[in-house]
Amino acid sequence: MKIGIDIDDVICNTIPNIVTFYNRKYNKNIKFEEIHSFNLWESGIGKNKEEIIKIVNEFDSEIGLDKVELLPNVKQAIIGLISQADIFFITSRSNKFQNKTEVYFKENFPNLDFRVVYANDFHDHNGSKKKSEICRELGIDIFIDDNKDYVLDCSKEGIRCFLINKPWNQDFKQNLEITRVNSLKEAVEIIKGGN
Ligand SMILES: [Mg+2]
Repeated sequence: MKIGIDIDDVICNTIPNIVTFYNRKYNKNIKFEEIHSFNLWESGIGKNKEEIIKIVNEFDSEIGLDKVELLPNVKQAIIGLISQADIFFITSRSNKFQNKTEVYFKENFPNLDFRVVYANDFHDHNGSKKKSEICRELGIDIFIDDNKDYVLDCSKEGIRCFLINKPWNQDFKQNLEITRVNSLKEAVEIIKGGN
């Protein structure tokens, strides 16, 4: 069994950290619960995609993407899965965060065998691939993400999907191929339960 797992806001608590950073740096008061779209500028963080990329870069240089904490129970969930599945972490992070990401994973998941794949589709459309294309090429059986569009794309490839419940995907209704769960741990329990 091959499982594709997103990184930001599935493995680690990225957007809340970016919102906190943005509020502090730009004297704003945006709440995590108010982030109703994956396009953060639609919830008042920056004005457009270019500004979000700039804010993420500022966050990385001033705080560090490698300083974002793991979400609760993620470590146990991954360890519980590794004996039953090949794990591919599939991320939209820019390639330029590759080294930092690899170090982060080695520190948090030492001695585990996995691969990190960079779709790079948010930052650079040249040479990038959609997550659904990557999943198809890798032969992914199960895909877990917090982005409703990626999950929907993958479900159309016949991949069983789990959508991690977040404020920015509330308008998405689950269907037969896509199960909404509150955490990676919950998805892993369902996978391991064979449901
Ligand atoms: Mg994500």
